[in-house]
Amino acid sequence: MAIEMCYEKDVDPSIIQGMKVAVIGYGSQGHAHALNLMDSGCDVRVGLREGSKSWAVAEEAGLKVMTMEDAAEEADLIMILVPDEIQAKVYKESIEAHVKPGNTLAFGHGFNVHFGYIVPPEGVNVIMCAPKGPGHIVRRQYTEGSGVPDLICVHTDATGNAWDIAKSYAWGVGGARTGIMLGTFAQETEEDLFGEQAVLCGGAVELVKAGFDTLVNYGGYPAELAYFEVYHELKMIVDLMYEKGISFMNYSISNTAEYGEYYAGPKVINEQSREAMKLILDRIKNGEFAKEFMADCENDHKWLLEQRAACDDLEIEKTGKKIRSMFTTVKK
Ligand code: NAD
Ligand code: MG
Ligand code: MG
Repeated sequence: MAIEMCYEKDVDPSIIQGMKVAVIGYGSQGHAHALNLMDSGCDVRVGLREGSKSWAVAEEAGLKVMTMEDAAEEADLIMILVPDEIQAKVYKESIEAHVKPGNTLAFGHGFNVHFGYIVPPEGVNVIMCAPKGPGHIVRRQYTEGSGVPDLICVHTDATGNAWDIAKSYAWGVGGARTGIMLGTFAQETEEDLFGEQAVLCGGAVELVKAGFDTLVNYGGYPAELAYFEVYHELKMIVDLMYEKGISFMNYSISNTAEYGEYYAGPKVINEQSREAMKLILDRIKNGEFAKEFMADCENDHKWLLEQRAACDDLEIEKTGKKIRSMFTTVKK
């Protein structure tokens, strides 16, 4: 099943440039969307809570800032970029009353719409523009002249041109410079959660932790050496894969390393790990993960905060902090 792509030539920038856009929230994604859209010649206003720390920061960056209610009232397109777990509450309290027929509601991730925590009114376009990268990279690449690819989706096409609006919005945040992928809310929500859980965040971090533990606690090697081996060098290997593929990375490493990759990799990520991945995907698809996450959020993030504190306390993190402070070539 190949994914449909589009590029700058397929997009009409005048659509988004002709709309009043509200970006709700000024965090990781919010600041990137708002600033990139502004630099793309769009009429952007940032919607924030009164007293928000981001208010002055966004104004200093040259953006119009107002309350979420005023921003939603003025706008033709409302992009909701507050944390997933509070979106339903923020939407109910500050946005819903200001969404009018013909408006477009937009999201950076499908969580709330796909799992039914937000049910948009009829007559309103519901679209998504999800950059496939962290917000600070979305902004950095835009200022450098490139752009993080976006996944765009349409949940409801009320005006008949929701796809063109989504493409034009993605152009505004810089996604068309590299490529825009067309998908569905279900695909984006499920794949994104799976990717961050099994591979990008959950999988990668646990792999690094397990390698460090084995070297230090089982093998008795110095923590600094172990840190360099399984943590610091990971970025260089991933950079090679990202730039030119696994084969090029294999070409760059020694034959010894490549032999070890084929021999040891499937022993670490084995049938049991693949079964665990299937279970993780099943729990995402049937909504169990969403329910569990939302329950912890209602409980003031008790479990999440315990895990966060435990992570800060790991020997590998302490070693990393010490080493990075001695390393002038690692960017702050
Ligand atoms: P964030 O946590 O960085 O920022 C949230 C912002 O929302 C805050 O800076 C603040 O301006 C505002 N906010 C916080 N609490 C609020 C409240 N109670 N009421 C009103 N406003 C409040 O969020 P984020 O990581 O940018 O995520 C936003 C959306 O983008 C989510 O749907 C997320 O899944 C999606 N997304 C994020 C990334 C990423 O790089 N972080 C990548 C892809 C998609
Ligand atoms: Mg993601
Ligand atoms: Mg995500």
